Amino acid sequence: MTDTTPEVLIIGAGIGGLTFALALHRAGISCRLYEAAPEFKPLGVGLNLLPHAIRDLAELGLLDQLLAKGIATREYCFYTKHGQLVYEEPRGRQAGYDVPQVSIHRADLHDVLVGAVRERLGDDAIVMGRKCVAVDQDDDSAIISFLDGSTGQPLPPVRAPIAVACDGVHSAARKQFHPEEAKPRYQGTTQYRGATRWTPFKTGASMAYVGTYETGKLITYPVRDNIDGKGGQLINWVIEVARDDEPTRDWNRQSRAEEFIDGFEHATFDWLDIPAMLRGADVILEYPMLDQDPLSFWTVGRITLLGDAAHPMMPRGSNGAAQAIIDANTLAELLEKRSDRLEALKEYEAIRLGATSKVVLANREVAPDAILRVIEERTGGKRFDRIEDVISHDELVAWQERYRKVAGFSTEDMKKPRQLV
Ligand SMILES: Cc1cc2nc3c(=O)[nH]c(=O)nc-3n(C[C@H](O)[C@H](O)[C@H](O)COP(=O)(O)OP(=O)(O)OC[C@H]3O[C@@H](n4cnc5c(N)ncnc54)[C@H](O)[C@@H]3O)c2cc1C
Repeated sequence: MTDTTPEVLIIGAGIGGLTFALALHRAGISCRLYEAAPEFKPLGVGLNLLPHAIRDLAELGLLDQLLAKGIATREYCFYTKHGQLVYEEPRGRQAGYDVPQVSIHRADLHDVLVGAVRERLGDDAIVMGRKCVAVDQDDDSAIISFLDGSTGQPLPPVRAPIAVACDGVHSAARKQFHPEEAKPRYQGTTQYRGATRWTPFKTGASMAYVGTYETGKLITYPVRDNIDGKGGQLINWVIEVARDDEPTRDWNRQSRAEEFIDGFEHATFDWLDIPAMLRGADVILEYPMLDQDPLSFWTVGRITLLGDAAHPMMPRGSNGAAQAIIDANTLAELLEKRSDRLEALKEYEAIRLGATSKVVLANREVAPDAILRVIEERTGGKRFDRIEDVISHDELVAWQERYRKVAGFSTEDMKKPRQLV
């Protein structure tokens, strides 16, 4: 490894940290990433990247690679638990954006980012097996203490003019800055996530929402195309159901279809056999719907927080990865433009803390699929004859537009410079 001190030390090589490294490199600012895992494994399942995140990744020259691995989402469609269509709307380029919305396996997204970092910044840009345990600073440097990720042995601290903690939901820096922070807030529902090798449904690039979590909710979309040379796809799915036992926040906790399948046994529709698809998954993961109240500050002198470390939110509305990507590009842009880098860290917090807090809070109430609860309430959970008798088309459109505005990806927002959104 090179001995030169980088200008920025990045804690954590997940989606936010890697994007930040690429954005800093483009700005001509040197950096090095320190990742706790001794090696990267293809973990997680799929996620969806909204147009504002794709715009930032496209500016980093990654769009072709993302589209080669993932799928450009063409439409959202909302169904009741009976399989009755409530609403469909175009997405990505079909909805007038300059860039697509992309559904992709997290491991593929991570792979694209790691490959780009190693190619552009060099093989030694990511130091593996470094678990951050404490952050400190003096007049000249941030000072970061690590344990060896494999042996747990303490390692000599590392110094850099600035450090950015991108170490996810269990961030060591966040815990140190906010020791009084309340425990994660559990909403009383749990997600089961899986991916199944299956035949395409609807357009082959549709994202479908079915039902509500009270009776069992499904979100499903394809994340890999033509995986068998015969047009088969890897279909990602997320089930959300009410559960009242003590949750564990671990992205890799495994589960079984028996935990939730009862609520979906009836859901064999003409466009998708849902129970068969759920049973066909290679692996099923469990993740509770937890978030934390927005923080009062992220930046202390030479150190700041980014991504889930700064604003852990419920994985709903496709915004966890998107907001980390936008944080990364905003901070890199400010560090490039401002001569006083400590001021840049403060300005980043001023721009992004309020914006992301709104998304954290919106994900509790008004995520895109909340419309299905409105339908459930108005119909008493029964079948309807005509959707127009339950809700007007304008109201359906307004629900989706409201979330786009909060999350900062309405077509209007996309025309503004990033920092003003
Ligand atoms: C294994 C895994 C699987 C996931 N699967 C999904 C999914 O299927 N769907 C979904 O919507 N979201 C998933 N997420 C969350 C999603 O990636 C994040 O919400 C989002 O990308 C925000 O990115 P981030 O960089 O802030 O956090 P993350 O992408 O979580 O990255 C944090 C990184 O920091 C590292 N790290 C943690 N603690 C330390 C430490 N003390 N010192 C150094 N490094 C540390 C982690 O190993 C990780 O590489 C997953 C996250 C992880 C870690």
